[in-house]
Amino acid sequence: MGKVEVSVLIPAAGQGERLGLGPKAFLRVGGRTLLEWALLPFQGASEVLVALPPGAEPPRGLRATFLEGGRSRQESVARLLEAASLPVVLVHDVARPFVSRKLVERVLEATRREGAAVPVLPVPDTLVRPEEARYGEVLPREALRLVQTPQGFFTALLREAHAYARKRGLTATDDAQLVRALGYPVALVEGERTAFKITYQEDLPLAEALARVWNA
Ligand code: C5P
Repeated sequence: MGKVEVSVLIPAAGQGERLGLGPKAFLRVGGRTLLEWALLPFQGASEVLVALPPGAEPPRGLRATFLEGGRSRQESVARLLEAASLPVVLVHDVARPFVSRKLVERVLEATRREGAAVPVLPVPDTLVRPEEARYGEVLPREALRLVQTPQGFFTALLREAHAYARKRGLTATDDAQLVRALGYPVALVEGERTAFKITYQEDLPLAEALARVWNA
């Protein structure tokens, strides 16, 4: 990425409850915090805004502006969006440390063309809807995709989507859902297996191993 006119929004205000090791932003993997990892592929971006948990001390020496996050991911992103000053935003979860510059470029390119774009992956496993504790209906995995970040949007579009969600009381785990709820199409680009989200304790040794060989 050269100097790119994009606002990078990092919601990093979660408490990391499922992992149980405190806020993920400050969790260390391979000698860096997850926040430091998350910022790496966006070094060329003109603006980087990060939402931290209320009361968290903003880390020193990082090229980013820090804000206080909200009670949900959606609220944290809404706050970051208010502060964004450029016409395109990339929203990226702090819990995904291994994102290549290539992936960022793919998302940005599709966003500039289509106004909204997200990376997705095919589902490798069989998918089943359990019936109580028993094997139930199998869902067609070829028809489904796993959704990742960074997700790219025209800033005005994502602001409108968040305003619409607030008015309607919609809640969502990512931003593409809100844009779609507004009736605007979201383009899909190819994601990356390595851009997995650190969610459970078992993800940590995988992340440590990847950190040792990561050079994307
Ligand atoms: O909990 P979940 O995995 O959905 O969190 C996704 C992202 O949203 C994480 O990067 C987390 O730090 C962020 N988040 C936030 N504000 C909250 C809750 C989660 O910025 N109140």
